[in-house]
Amino acid sequence: MDFSLVVPVFNEEKNLEELIRRCLEVCRPLDRPFELILVDDGSGDASRDIIEAGCAAHPELAGVFLNRNYGQHAAVMAGFAQARGATIITLDADLQNPPEEIPRLLAKADQGHDVVGSVRRKRQDSLFRKLASRCVNTLIKMNTKTEMRDYGCMLRAYSRPVAEAVLRCREATRFIPILANSFAGNPVEIEVEHAPRNAGESKYSLFSLIRLYLDLLTCMSTFPLRLAGVMGLVLSLVGFAAGLFVLGGRLLYGANWAADGIFTLFSLAFILLGGLYLGIGIVGEYLARLYNTERNRPLYLIKKITGQGINAQNNGG
Ligand code: UDP
Ligand code: MG
Repeated sequence: MDFSLVVPVFNEEKNLEELIRRCLEVCRPLDRPFELILVDDGSGDASRDIIEAGCAAHPELAGVFLNRNYGQHAAVMAGFAQARGATIITLDADLQNPPEEIPRLLAKADQGHDVVGSVRRKRQDSLFRKLASRCVNTLIKMNTKTEMRDYGCMLRAYSRPVAEAVLRCREATRFIPILANSFAGNPVEIEVEHAPRNAGESKYSLFSLIRLYLDLLTCMSTFPLRLAGVMGLVLSLVGFAAGLFVLGGRLLYGANWAADGIFTLFSLAFILLGGLYLGIGIVGEYLARLYNTERNRPLYLIKKITGQGINAQNNGG
């Protein structure tokens, strides 16, 4: 199998037929063996029937039906687990990601890029979504070493080893573009078109977006856990400096200086408070270690093993 398309589907009855038609129209002329995996994420509308009918009509189609709604990224993971292609491409079912861009993604993957990301040229979403995703993209950039401008766009291509590494991550939140980038050896980004949603409503409410962003923040880094420690250190240092200042003033100007010792109390309070935060921060450090161990991500990905006597064993830490 040359490449697999993985599409999460949640109540997309109005878009599915056009999606299937356009994907097949674009991919068939490429003359490479491919499959289109539609993962139904517990839809309650006619999506399931449309997928079934599509699978009966077209040999390239495959349907994976989850028993209830697990969320977009879980659905993509379920698709990854079934995909057989050497390259795996994800896109949304609502036609915001035009299937016509697939050949360009493939071309980049063929050049040896193991993750091909995409930037939406003219993003067709609400102002709030654009702003929120700008913040998130900046945060991710600060936390990961790979430079990508747009993590929200799901029109992406992954090499098989990267997809398998992502599958091996058994952590609660699995935001696929970020996970994949943490295993990318040679990522690249291309610009793609972005259309408004074809039909139906966005599946993300304001509340679920906020939850997603909080999830993202905590899945990327353990910095929030360590924040208390940093704060504690700063507070203690400020308290200590203030204490020195007050002591100096007292020696120079006598006991009446600095409101009869009230400022001394202040500086002591700062030092103690700082110590408290520092303590919380240390607990945070241990928690961060636990968290990282518990996530159990593969430690590395091997590209190739050479040597005559050696058998390639398990790939990944
Ligand atoms: N989706 C899903 N499960 C969900 C929510 C969404 O499989 O619980 C799918 C949805 O059908 C679509 C994609 O994920 O193919 C992106 O969803 P949507 O277009 O609603 O998100 P937005 O474009 O607003 O970010
Ligand atoms: Mg959409």
